[in-house]
Amino acid sequence: MGIRSSLSTILTQNTWPTAQWSDWHWQMQNRIKSMPQLQLIFPNADLTGIDDALKLFQMAITPYYASLIKKFDNTDPIFNMSVPQASELISPPFIKTDPLDEDHHSPVHGLIHRYGDRALIMATSTCAMYCRHCTRKRITSAAESCLMADQLDAIKNYLIQHSEIKDVIISGGDPFTLSTDKLESILSSVRSVSSVEIIRIGTRTPVTMPMRITDELISMLKRYHPVWINTHFNHPVEITKEAAEACTILVDAGIPLGNQTVLLRGVNDTSEIIGNLCRDLIRIRVRPYYLFQCDMVPGVEHFRTPITHGINIMRNLRGRISGIAIPTYVVDGNIGKIPVLPDSIISSDATNTTLCDSNGNIMIYQEPSIN
Ligand SMILES: *Cc1c(COP(=O)(O)O)cnc(C)c1O
Ligand code: SF4
Repeated sequence: MGIRSSLSTILTQNTWPTAQWSDWHWQMQNRIKSMPQLQLIFPNADLTGIDDALKLFQMAITPYYASLIKKFDNTDPIFNMSVPQASELISPPFIKTDPLDEDHHSPVHGLIHRYGDRALIMATSTCAMYCRHCTRKRITSAAESCLMADQLDAIKNYLIQHSEIKDVIISGGDPFTLSTDKLESILSSVRSVSSVEIIRIGTRTPVTMPMRITDELISMLKRYHPVWINTHFNHPVEITKEAAEACTILVDAGIPLGNQTVLLRGVNDTSEIIGNLCRDLIRIRVRPYYLFQCDMVPGVEHFRTPITHGINIMRNLRGRISGIAIPTYVVDGNIGKIPVLPDSIISSDATNTTLCDSNGNIMIYQEPSIN
C-alpha cells in the first residue's frame, strides 16, 4: 500500500490497520520520498523551493515521524527536521562536505579511525528519516547502500591488526534500518575480534521509527553484550509514548542508552527546550551525552547558531536541572570533538583560584599548601 491518503488519515493513525503501522518494514516501505507524496499528504502546504532542495539532498520521512508534524510550516520542529526547505540551497563558501575530515581518517572503506582506542563503522547509508541537519550528507544523500561481506572482512582484519581499538561504534546512516540478520553479521564479526571490548551503536530509529525495536532485534543484540546505544532526540515532542516504549525495551535489555542532540536554530535553540528535553530523557532512562554545535556542512546554514548561544544554554542548565541530565556541549571539526564549557575560572595563581557560578557568585578555592 502506498502513501495515498490525506494528512488527516496519516495523523489519525487508527485509520491504518494497527498491524501495518507497527511493522517497521511497512514504515520503511511507505516513507515519504517525493514531492507528489508530500503534496498528497499535506495538500494545503506551501511547497515552493522544496523541489530544488530535494535535488541536492534526498528526503525520506516515515509515516510515524510525519504524524508528529502538527503544523506544516517552519514553526514546527518536526517539519523543520524532516521536510526539505529552500534555505538548504544557501551555503557560504567556507562550507565543506566533509568538515570533520572523516575521509582522511578512513584506512579501509566503511571505517573511520580518528581516535586511538575507538573506530566507527559506517554500516549503511540508509536512514529511516533523513534529517535535514545531517552532518554526513555526503553519505546519506547518496544512493542507499550498505557494507558488503568483503568490505566487512577488510574491516575485521583492520580491527585485528589494531588491537588498540577497544570501542567500535556501528553507525551510518542508521544501522537499525538493516535487517536483523545483516546487523548480526556485523556485530558477530566485530565481536569475534578479541581486543574489542565494547560495541556502540548509533541509531535514530527510537525517535523516527520506534517500531524497529522488536523482540527479535533485542534477543539478537543481547548476544553481543556489552552493547551501548546512542540515539538522537532533539526536541521534547519526539518523546512520544512509542519512543519512550522503545527506549524502555532497550534499557531493560541491559543496553545503556545515551542521547546526542544537535543544537538547531528554530528547533531547540532555547535553554527551556533543551532543559525540558534533557529532563524528559532521564525520566525514560536515556542519559544526555552530547549537545553538538551544528557542523559546517552544506545545506544547514539556517540551522546554525553562534557558539556563544550554546554556551549560554549550558550556563542556564547548570544548577537548574539534575546533573545527570546535563550533556557535554561539543564543537566537532577537522581536529575532532572539542568540549566547550562556560568559563568558571576567573583567575588562578599558586595560592588560590577564583571561580564563579552560573549566577555570577564568586568563590575562592585555596590551593594546597603542600606541593
Ligand atoms: C564521535 C566519534 C567517536 C566517539 O567519540 P566519543 O567521544 O568517545 O563518543 C569515534 N569516532 C569518530 C569518528 C567520531 O566522530
Ligand atoms: S539519522 Fe543520523 S545519519 Fe541519518 S540523516 Fe539523521 S543525522 Fe544523518
